[in-house]
Amino acid sequence: MAHIDVVQIPVLSDNYVYLARDEESGTCGVVDPAVGGPVIAELEKRGWTLDWIINTHHHGDHTGANLELKEKYGCQIVGPRLEQQRIPGIDQAVGDGDTFSLGNSVAKVYDVPGHTAGHNAYWFEDSDTLFCGDTLFALGCGRVFEGTHEQMWTSLDKLRGLPAATKIYCAHEYTEANLNFALSVEPANSTLVSRGNQIRALRAEGKPTVPSTMGDELATNPFVRADQEALQIAVGMPGSDPVSVFAEVRTRKDNF
Ligand code: ZN
Ligand code: FE
Repeated sequence: MAHIDVVQIPVLSDNYVYLARDEESGTCGVVDPAVGGPVIAELEKRGWTLDWIINTHHHGDHTGANLELKEKYGCQIVGPRLEQQRIPGIDQAVGDGDTFSLGNSVAKVYDVPGHTAGHNAYWFEDSDTLFCGDTLFALGCGRVFEGTHEQMWTSLDKLRGLPAATKIYCAHEYTEANLNFALSVEPANSTLVSRGNQIRALRAEGKPTVPSTMGDELATNPFVRADQEALQIAVGMPGSDPVSVFAEVRTRKDNF
């Protein structure tokens, strides 16, 4: 089975940029290069070159180094079809139902609108690896800037269907702030409380809390639990439709 190695590069105040390299072919991509310098340094340290830039959405902290890296490496850029005119240097536009090949490793592409109108996620099934940009975070989800609450819920619901072992490579280290909010919503969720202790210990040592797994998120992330009875009771909306519950949780977080 084809397999990708992932290298996590912390940049700016809280962004994660990822190198994803297909082991067999050596084909290498970078996911959401906010800045170029640290990416170039990491590639040079490993003796790797760059074949692909993989963008999840158009925001500057995800595409900022597109043109610089394309110029330096002559790589190609793949990004979301639904916002391709906002992706600098894009060569291949993909969306729901498409696949993207990084050497021998194949990702299924999902449209996950809400944070932006055309946001993509890339699932490398054989590697249990999901690159989901600013859609799903460890214990959180992206702010709903360009879409509706209903769209964002539908997007999260799509991702929720992936296997519990899926590693969630999101684009920001927001976990501790998300934890504080999640605990305000579900203080009695014992799985959340124990996950919280692990998160605080990691952050106290300056270590990343990303990736998490889909299983972790299903048990503890309030944004993907909007249809769960325990979460609905916790926000005082038992029996409500999941979109309304999701909207309530998202709005509380916006004001937290
Ligand atoms: Zn963003
Ligand atoms: Fe971002």
